[in-house]
Amino acid sequence: MYDPRQQSYTKTEYDTVNIHYDALRAEIATLREELTCEECEQSLADPETGVTALCMMCWNAMVTKLRAEIDSLKAELKAKDAALEKLARLGNEPYLGNSEGNIIAQQALKED
Ligand SMILES: [Zn+2]
Repeated sequence: MYDPRQQSYTKTEYDTVNIHYDALRAEIATLREELTCEECEQSLADPETGVTALCMMCWNAMVTKLRAEIDSLKAELKAKDAALEKLARLGNEPYLGNSEGNIIAQQALKED
């Protein structure tokens, strides 16, 4: 199994990689607990790597959960774009303004 801790790093790089590695492992463990049922744990776990595949039920639950998160992020982005759109024109509606604030909002909209 790939382990970034087996690469050669300086002490600082090693510490940084180690922190991220541990955080990711913790996140994966949490996700696995949230997403897998007993069937996954008992019949689909690879004893060598500890990696657990998802049964159809858990897979569907994960997809549903991810879709909901994507929808929520899309709604959040839409609301922020609407606010930026107003700020981009503030003081010069319905046209784009040229104040410092208008320009900042216009640039933020371009970056999307
Ligand atoms: Zn399952």
